[in-house]
Amino acid sequence: MPPSYRGRLAPSPTGRLHLGHARTFWTAFQRARAAGGVLVLRNEDLDRDRAKPEFVAAFIEDLRWLGLTWDEGPDVGGPYGPYSQSERIESYRVTFDQLRESSRLYPCTCSRKDIQAALTAPHPVDDEPIYPGTCRPKLPESATQPSKTNRPQNWRFQVPDGEVIDFVDKRLGPQRFVAGRDFGDFVVWRHDDLPSYQLACVADDALMRISEVVRGADLLISTARQLLLYRALQLASPAFYHCPLMTDDHGVRLAKRHSGLSLAALREAGRDPAELRARWQDDRNRSSTLIDANKEPQATRVGLG
Ligand code: GLU
Repeated sequence: MPPSYRGRLAPSPTGRLHLGHARTFWTAFQRARAAGGVLVLRNEDLDRDRAKPEFVAAFIEDLRWLGLTWDEGPDVGGPYGPYSQSERIESYRVTFDQLRESSRLYPCTCSRKDIQAALTAPHPVDDEPIYPGTCRPKLPESATQPSKTNRPQNWRFQVPDGEVIDFVDKRLGPQRFVAGRDFGDFVVWRHDDLPSYQLACVADDALMRISEVVRGADLLISTARQLLLYRALQLASPAFYHCPLMTDDHGVRLAKRHSGLSLAALREAGRDPAELRARWQDDRNRSSTLIDANKEPQATRVGLG
């Protein structure tokens, strides 16, 4: 029988991996190995402007340096390939067509600027603004065709306003989001004829038979969005485990611009990956007592010293 646990590492090749990514990927690796399961490496290279092939080679090198191994991926192949999102566009189109049949999609010609101008409330710092509904149709079934316009069109998923989306995160416990309040109608297909992250992620996690998604806690709200897509597509959703985020000494969340904390810089500085892994193991042992419903423990500071 094939192993029932299938996990994934899903880096975007838009810069060098930093310590925050590394710890999340290490957790995903540990969970897959502890379950005797399979780990998939997926190259999330859909961002045409920022994704670069040299960063694919770089994340493979960085993850290997860290001591991670995977069973399927762009470099090793496997039964659910291709493992680079840019090579999977046709399968996303199938998912998009299925979603269109669900009558929850509509074309939207609003630019980012239009949305900012129409907002009446401040938006969550960490997430996209709640779409003000300018292009939302009065009747959902009226919106299966593109509008007749020359303006670029995104396709949005109409969320069920007021509905509670809840799920039990494997680390954080019960999570609860309200559609229309915590997040609004979101883009599933972009005006440049590419799927959005939300659609590509759900399509791939389902097609690659992922049983547990391990990723950063910055994606908790996206999990709520994705659960709506799983439901609209009549697909079973995987389990979720959201890792704590890392901040620098000033409390700023690590991002690719923190180049001094990239794995490449640490390697060049002669750091030992075993030492990083041991530190994360200690953090994990300490925080395993922290699991508290609906409460995200403080992001962890890097403290390399
Ligand atoms: N490619 C995404 C990132 O690097 C990960 C998304 C996910 O794990 O679902 O942030």
